Amino acid sequence: MDTQTKKGGISVETANIFPVIKRWLYSEKDIFLREIVSNATDAVTKIKRLQSLGKISMPDEKYRVDVVLDTEEKTITVRDNGIGMSEDELTRYNCQIALSGALEFIEKYEGESNSADGIIGHFGLGFYSAFMISDKVEIYSKSYTDAPAVHWICDDNGEYEMSSCDKTEHGTSVVMHVSSEGEEYLNASKLKEMLDKYCSFMPVEIFFKQVNDGAEEKEEKPINETTPLWLKQASECSAEDYNEFYKKVFRDFKDPLFYIHINADYPLNFKGILFFPKIANEYESLEGQVKLYYNQVFVSDNIKEVIPDYMIMLKGVLDCPELPLNVSRSYLQTNTYVSKLSAHIVKKVADKLNSLYNTDRETFEKVWEDIKVFIEYACLRDKKFYDRVKDSLLVKLTDDTHLSINEYLEKAKDTNENTVYYTTDKALQAQYISLFEAQNIQVACFDHQLDTQFISMLEQYLENVNFIRVDADVASALKGDGDITENTAMAEVFKKASKNEKLDVKFEALKTTEIPAILNISEESRRFEDMMRMYGGNGNMGLNGGETLVVNNNSPLISKLSALIENDKDAAEQIASYIYKLSVISQRKLSAQEMQEFLADSFRILEKI
Ligand code: ADP
Repeated sequence: MDTQTKKGGISVETANIFPVIKRWLYSEKDIFLREIVSNATDAVTKIKRLQSLGKISMPDEKYRVDVVLDTEEKTITVRDNGIGMSEDELTRYNCQIALSGALEFIEKYEGESNSADGIIGHFGLGFYSAFMISDKVEIYSKSYTDAPAVHWICDDNGEYEMSSCDKTEHGTSVVMHVSSEGEEYLNASKLKEMLDKYCSFMPVEIFFKQVNDGAEEKEEKPINETTPLWLKQASECSAEDYNEFYKKVFRDFKDPLFYIHINADYPLNFKGILFFPKIANEYESLEGQVKLYYNQVFVSDNIKEVIPDYMIMLKGVLDCPELPLNVSRSYLQTNTYVSKLSAHIVKKVADKLNSLYNTDRETFEKVWEDIKVFIEYACLRDKKFYDRVKDSLLVKLTDDTHLSINEYLEKAKDTNENTVYYTTDKALQAQYISLFEAQNIQVACFDHQLDTQFISMLEQYLENVNFIRVDADVASALKGDGDITENTAMAEVFKKASKNEKLDVKFEALKTTEIPAILNISEESRRFEDMMRMYGGNGNMGLNGGETLVVNNNSPLISKLSALIENDKDAAEQIASYIYKLSVISQRKLSAQEMQEFLADSFRILEKI
């Protein structure tokens, strides 16, 4: 064995790089493990490739990577049985860092404090991240070729020694002598947590072990899944596979509502699975999480740039070999690949919604109430998305069944063409709803805050279609036969009873005889008030105009009232006031004062029995 030791320094310029690396990378020390372990899995992938190309033959080889923690010796070792390096390769790859690149890196990033994540890897500096936590790093490596094994040892000033050694198995062992700055990493649960975060889906089995009393413990269960679900074909995966994967990766105990498996090839070339999570209640964080991987190596789970903000609730994994392993925020923001990726994801979400609508309507209806807010929001934010999903948008009816908007309009053709009648509160507006339903007109529920804006948007895009709340178009929808007699005296009595001089009183012959009078609140003025309320006004309903009392000429009670006005004005006024309050009750909540008056009126009338 050649015992001659070679000494060297990683050259003046590269020596300078050590303190720089430490300084720039300080904020993300954790990534050293990802860098060293992914080098190890790369080395295994390379030897496997040689094997599959028939360049070498090692049929029984069990490929693996071991991460070994020795708290006594204060070392973390990453060991692989991959391709290995000869002395020459080690010198080339690890001692002669591309100098121009390194210098360029210093020039470019000097003065920028948080841009480190864009640097490592880009300049082939991944290995050097070991020095963020080590004061000395050793490499034992044996190439798969006949080249002798080599031992390299380097301190954190960049001074190295290289000699041959007696390693017989091909592969590489990187021994990191942890410095005082890296003390926190001499901890098994910390390392396991990092392996779980960064290495869970790396393509070679990774084993974590500790050294106890000088002996490595036996750990025969890999910490990773070498063939993650996203690499499989969707046709090979069952619903259970997706649910299990989701629950494990996102630590959720609920199944997702549905998932989207993306397998995009040229030119985007990425794979991934996106999940629509079930949000338990409105207090739960809506923020999803999309984990970005680079060839199965975890990169980041905070990549808002890739998913449009209106799809913020999505959870999932994306494996994008087209993006560099170390991506910086500014890179993502300006990169055209990223914007194409983002557009593709939006398209896939839309496709999935359409395909659920078309082929699995039952499931779609089941999840609709959970996803509706997000879909409506996305439509409001992105016209293109709306255009894609517009035929699959559902509305819920008062009996909790669903129709698509087109289906609703189709059914409405004879009774209420181009009009969607809706309620914002099924209980409060029950009387109106029943009137419409008695005419075979279906009423949609738009009871979410966002619905107001959504409705306006639909009106804008659908041009001819109007959305009218059930209390806003009573007369025209419910007009029956019979004479309409204007009765000015009665109009005056109702105006007085309502204590609202601006109250509009209108006489109609409604289809029903059971209702003497009903309030009609114009859609326009109500929407205006809703909007004012949204911007902090008090939205004092009814007092600002737009309120019409529709008096029903077909009601026997109204006929009686008409007679009473002539004979006993006081009694007529009492009755009118009572009728008016009942009409208010069926439209909105009474104020405290109105409620007191209403009770007093009721008791007075009951006294008459
Ligand atoms: P990068 O991986 O970005 O190219 P690194 O500094 O991490 O930069 O590694 C430089 C080179 O050293 C690698 O490209 C590889 O050829 C070699 N190398 C690093 N680790 C190993 C290993 N465990 N086995 C074999 N070769 C390795």
